[in-house]
Amino acid sequence: MTQAFVDLTGQPEALQQLNTALLDKVSGVHHAWLFVGPPGSGRSNMAHAFAQSLICKQNGCGVCKDCQLAIAGHHPNISVLTTDKVVITIEQVRSMVASSALGSSSGGYRVMLIEDADRMAERSSNVLLKALEEPPENTIWLLCAPSEMDMLPTIRSRVRKVNLTVPSAVEVARLLTEKEGIDPELAINVAREAQSHIGMARRLATSYEARSRRSESIQIGLNISDLGKAMFAAEKWLALAKQDGEALAQEESENQQRALLSSVGLGPEDKVPAQLKSELKALADDQKRRTTRAIRDGLDRILLDLASAYRDIATIQLQSGLQLVNESIRDQLEMRARASRVESTLEILDEIKLARKRIERNVRDLLAMEALATKMIFRGWGN
Ligand SMILES: [Zn+2]
Repeated sequence: MTQAFVDLTGQPEALQQLNTALLDKVSGVHHAWLFVGPPGSGRSNMAHAFAQSLICKQNGCGVCKDCQLAIAGHHPNISVLTTDKVVITIEQVRSMVASSALGSSSGGYRVMLIEDADRMAERSSNVLLKALEEPPENTIWLLCAPSEMDMLPTIRSRVRKVNLTVPSAVEVARLLTEKEGIDPELAINVAREAQSHIGMARRLATSYEARSRRSESIQIGLNISDLGKAMFAAEKWLALAKQDGEALAQEESENQQRALLSSVGLGPEDKVPAQLKSELKALADDQKRRTTRAIRDGLDRILLDLASAYRDIATIQLQSGLQLVNESIRDQLEMRARASRVESTLEILDEIKLARKRIERNVRDLLAMEALATKMIFRGWGN
């Protein structure tokens, strides 16, 4: 396994499949791949690592210039299509297909990567299909989607599938302890809280702020006692999602800047040469785009976290004996479980699901969160 895949353990089958494919680099790697797995399985990280390995002469060594430009998101032979919108537009796919025809600038592979390929409407998918039917030489398409069924059958039949699974909380915790030296008890707690989402678990383990934002958003939900508090809760959740989104976008942007500078042998303290300034500016623009999407993702995460707390309450009420996600606030959850009926807990879970759907469909964030908060009002015993 090369450096590019080093953070992506817990997916032995996918790794083996991709490593085998890389052995074909001289004779020709299959021209289209579909990375499928639920959110948190790391499907787009895996696709990015594969892209880097295809471009690098040592299959993803992590230190050569090609690798560092790939990590910085600036390799001329890797094009990435991501979107902060609900759908990928046909124009975006057309321009991607047009640029795939240019081939590689240095004679190696050219990689076209589409994250959230499930957000393409049928018309856009058909534009892509043409490119997959008659691929330019040495151009490789990498698509990512939650499941195979999200893609048209005509596309499915042309791609090689890479299956990713969600690792168990225990596996995620072991990874955090072995790779990052996180205390085992903290590691298992954050792995559960992140519901096995590796990136999120790492963040909760290493960022005090991220962890306290998570716990705050749950506490806000559990403490809505009247309409006034409900309105306040909705605003507070939005503010937390914004803080979280901005922090995340900034971390990502700093990592990319560092990688871009080190690809030309510069450290963080060195003076930036003029020709790099425009590239750094492009990264800063990316950050803005990323922030918009990160706020949406942040709200979704808050909803998932709230759902985890209410699922825990239902677990206690139903005495199903399942492991709680929020073990660290068990006493509080047990108290709420005793003070409320399982029917109302399940109703709230449905409302959370509805709020996620509304936000996905671009209902105004504040409206969707206010509607949810009013359903979460808890007035005490027997609610
Ligand atoms: Zn390399």
